[in-house]
Amino acid sequence: MNENSLKKALSTINLGALRYFDSIGSTNDEALAWAADDAKDLSIVIADEQTEGRGRLNRKWFTPKGSALAFSLILRPSARFAQRAHLSRTVGLAALSVADSCLKYGLAPRIKWPNDILLNGKKTAGILVETVWSGADMDAIVVGMGVNINKTSVPPADVLQFPATSIEDELGRQPPEREEFLTDILNAFISWREHIGTEKLINAWEEMLAFRGEQVQAQTGGETSVIGELLGLESDGSLRIRNAEDKSVIIRFGDVSLRPTA
Ligand code: ADP
Repeated sequence: MNENSLKKALSTINLGALRYFDSIGSTNDEALAWAADDAKDLSIVIADEQTEGRGRLNRKWFTPKGSALAFSLILRPSARFAQRAHLSRTVGLAALSVADSCLKYGLAPRIKWPNDILLNGKKTAGILVETVWSGADMDAIVVGMGVNINKTSVPPADVLQFPATSIEDELGRQPPEREEFLTDILNAFISWREHIGTEKLINAWEEMLAFRGEQVQAQTGGETSVIGELLGLESDGSLRIRNAEDKSVIIRFGDVSLRPTA
């Protein structure tokens, strides 16, 4: 993967502009700085390797050289949607785009709400959405995506809190080129984006949820956690769980770690 191969693969997609790096700290950091400057809608930062890739709450996201997709898309949101809903729906939009691309290769993706894509119950991709504000206005949304394509992108088990896999491992054969998988994700993202304010997006996202109808534990910041049956999504993309007292509990998008109960 290099700047030329990317430009060639992406030539049919209407992107803002592209910045490619052989190695970078974090594509989201570069995208946030570019977004605070003059980046156009759908500009993309992509790197072959990240040395300081981030998950939520500054957890580390591993992107070893030559093996994974790591990129950040810059969105200039329209003023049409409430900001909180727009953010959580953008996470769903991104997750669905990765899931759709996995489907294309005959894989069976599931979305571990809110931000991870699982294959065979193992994490294959993660999404990190961050924002740039100017006063009370949301100026830009940066959607970072990391996808384990080749098996060498999967971190060693001892650094993980949740099992991980790659497209190559799950296909059991040579995976698509990274440029090809990126093109699939971006095409899906651009078409799903048309539906960001609709029930269609929420329904498709809900259909794709991992652990639906199963017992889960949602650990929200600090010590609190909710245990119960995963029911589905609210219209803003929040998660609905039925707790032990048979009450519906809404888990808002934020720092939540979802796990199946044993
Ligand atoms: P979670 O949603 O599981 O709480 P995050 O979305 O914040 O986690 O992602 C960061 C976590 O993902 C890290 O703490 C690490 O355990 C795991 N991780 C890091 N790199 C990878 C990778 N390439 N593939 C799968 N999992 C990873």
